[in-house]
Amino acid sequence: MLSTMRRALRHGRDLLPVEGFTFDRPLVVLQSDDWGRAGISDRNAWNELRSLGLNLGEHSYDFYSLETAGDVAELISLLLRHSDSTGRCARLGMNFILANVDFAKVKAGGFRQIFLCTLANGLPEGWSRPGLFEAYREGIQTSVLSPALHGLTHFCRRAMERHLSDSSSRGILLRTLWDAGTPYIHERMPWAGFEYWDPERTRESFLPPETQQDLIASAVKAFAEVFSRPPRSACAPGYRANWATHKGWAANGIRVAQNGPGRMIAPHFDANGILHLYRSLDFEPGINDGFSLVDCLHSAREYFARSLPLIVSLHSINFHSTLKNFRGPTIALLDQFLSAVEANNSNLLYLTDEDLYRVIETGMLESPHGTVRIRARKQKFISRAVAAGRTA
Ligand SMILES: [Zn+2]
Repeated sequence: MLSTMRRALRHGRDLLPVEGFTFDRPLVVLQSDDWGRAGISDRNAWNELRSLGLNLGEHSYDFYSLETAGDVAELISLLLRHSDSTGRCARLGMNFILANVDFAKVKAGGFRQIFLCTLANGLPEGWSRPGLFEAYREGIQTSVLSPALHGLTHFCRRAMERHLSDSSSRGILLRTLWDAGTPYIHERMPWAGFEYWDPERTRESFLPPETQQDLIASAVKAFAEVFSRPPRSACAPGYRANWATHKGWAANGIRVAQNGPGRMIAPHFDANGILHLYRSLDFEPGINDGFSLVDCLHSAREYFARSLPLIVSLHSINFHSTLKNFRGPTIALLDQFLSAVEANNSNLLYLTDEDLYRVIETGMLESPHGTVRIRARKQKFISRAVAAGRTA
């Protein structure tokens, strides 16, 4: 312990003590991004873009479309087939993008400015997804889907607007895509950045605090218009969030911040009173060629052995079926994964982000068979030691 402390002093700020939480039973949280975000609408639009010279088919995200009512129904049915030790069904946090580009209005305005179409007003012209919003609502009513905030747009509006009307190859690509009702394909235009992060902005890539605050307030309003309640959990597009994002979230009622995978860090509160959760593993069979169910189960054992929640990251593309059948293989693998985790952990619990927040606050969780008590233990970690899942 003494040598750990010495190393902590040597590395200064990076190793400041952090208070994090561990739990006395295995907890599973499923977090999923990009719901409601339009890509390429259908096979006709895909063929049209190919005929215009786009070599689609090289990357997984060339097949990114938008979920259908059928995709959501299959997901709901999978979650309803699984339940934890208290009889609660598996549940998935769905992070929504609340607006898509209003292509017709942008075109009518001569590509000078970006106009958006919020989800409350449906999908942009040329897009059709019969029954999709009803499917979301059905999943929310049965408690297996839990909507949360991803953003108003996935891309950085400032970055996009810089190229909307210019004659560079970027501007030409953008207008070609927007003419076909496709907002963007990130792999082909990384300069589009992420909502709060403009990669080509000089000095500081994150947008100014007041701009972020306005974007967050608009997104929260658009969220409440669709779901009739404000969001409580948020994940920044591209995981690009800084202190200003967290402050803006806190000011707009967000209690849980979702952070990306790569570090084993215990849930903890920040100075704004926001609970930070860190994803444990990527469960992305549709986009990860090296996907391994065995590796995912190994990660699950590691997290449970350290009394940390298993927070599984899955992006919506894995459930799409319009341009490529990602959905079939993902549903089969997720079914196997959840079955194995349930079989290996007799006291397993499925939680949403909000459930986890409540467990830390109250030590209790409601189940079909009454109140369940869960002990959330606050421990001091040295941040590097937290990264290894060990206490200081
Ligand atoms: Zn995303």
